[in-house]
Amino acid sequence: MAVDLEKSAKERGIRYFLISYTDLFGTQRAKLVPAAAIGEMARNGAGFAGFATWLDMTPADPDTFAVPDAESLVQLPWKPEVGWLAADLWMDGKLVEHAPRNVLKRLTARAAELGYTMKSGVECEFFLVNPDGTGISDMADRQAKPCYDQSALMRRYEVISEICDAMLDLGWMPYQNDHEDANGQFEMNWHYDDALVTADRHAFFKYMVKAIAEKHGYRATFMPKPFETLTGNGCHAHVSLWKGKENVFHDRAGELGVSQLGYAFLGGVIHSADALCALFNPTVNSYKRINAPRTVSGATWSPNSVTWSGNNRTHMVRVPEGGRFELRLADGAANPYLLQAGILAAGLDGIGNKREPGKRLDINMYTDGHMVNGVKKLPLNLLDALRALEASDVLTDALGPFVPAYLKLKTDEWNAYSRHLTQWERDTTLDC
Ligand code: ADP
Ligand code: MG
Ligand code: MG
Ligand code: MG
Ligand code: MG
Repeated sequence: MAVDLEKSAKERGIRYFLISYTDLFGTQRAKLVPAAAIGEMARNGAGFAGFATWLDMTPADPDTFAVPDAESLVQLPWKPEVGWLAADLWMDGKLVEHAPRNVLKRLTARAAELGYTMKSGVECEFFLVNPDGTGISDMADRQAKPCYDQSALMRRYEVISEICDAMLDLGWMPYQNDHEDANGQFEMNWHYDDALVTADRHAFFKYMVKAIAEKHGYRATFMPKPFETLTGNGCHAHVSLWKGKENVFHDRAGELGVSQLGYAFLGGVIHSADALCALFNPTVNSYKRINAPRTVSGATWSPNSVTWSGNNRTHMVRVPEGGRFELRLADGAANPYLLQAGILAAGLDGIGNKREPGKRLDINMYTDGHMVNGVKKLPLNLLDALRALEASDVLTDALGPFVPAYLKLKTDEWNAYSRHLTQWERDTTLDC
């Protein structure tokens, strides 16, 4: 591996490598390493003080080493002399079990033992806002129904086409870009791939969109609900499961073209949905996107309950066609690795325990949801979701030491939020 990276650097004109890892809160951390030093770093890893980032470590712990995965190498399209590398964390000669990329790799290995590969595609919505983040970047983008607005899309052609060109060059097979349902909001779609490949691309995509937006004088945000009355940033995940070249979720004779195995996997996702919110909706702000009142465009496009349907976007899970389902729960703050790991953990439990997804609902969930009985609501805030995660045997077993580490850091975050005094409290309580 060391030789490969040294060689790639020479062949491709790479002067520096960014050895990068994603911490528990989804932040990417990196060291910039000159190509002359990559041999040694690729063998032993780049050293970090783990406690200084969102990892469950202490200041007294020894260095954690980020060992780059040469397969993940991407030359920054906007600065090709830099090569980005996703890295796996080690400490004291052992893999750090709670590091997100390691968590996902453990689960893909578990799936492989059972003969399965999960493939996934993600839709990472984002807003282009002004540099101080107070408003959208385009004052003319004001339609009440802004989705697919041709003119607003083309006013940001320079940014969108630069990102799409980059994905074309990287071989990601992008196929469409659009203006989304909120003023200032966009989505760019590329082809699905193995869960780990998609997770690395998802992580890189977020970095790339922010970097290219900044180059053009804007700021990109994936924040779940940056503006109260506008549709939030979702991160839908499309999922299928494969045995070699066969999509085992596909069955022409099955309901909506999905196999029994597919429904067992979906049953697992439905079973663990409330606990998965802790990973897929990981911020205080996330709960303003799900369970939200109608936005000015007419619909939030995000779920409020644990339900599934056919090609109907008002439910948590949509089956757009045979052989795959779309999980609409996650938002832009979801950690790319934990998103895939959570789906896989819940889905494999569904297969192992033959879980049933329950009856398909074909109603408009936004207008008629109250008319069906027995429907489970999604958690209403981060604390509810963290408690659901704590109570989940399925995720605790499958994700191992990650769960207590994550609960510890996220509970601290919830407590920091709870101590914070808001203007709303003053407005409603000062005269009590
Ligand atoms: P929509 O907006 O209708 O939900 P998009 O076209 O925006 O859908 O995104 C669909 C995503 O699903 C893409 O990333 C696509 O590659 C992916 N996808 C399509 N088929 C499969 C499949 N069989 N398994 C996993 N992902 C898939
Ligand atoms: Mg130092
Ligand atoms: Mg889409
Ligand atoms: Mg969308
Ligand atoms: Mg979608």
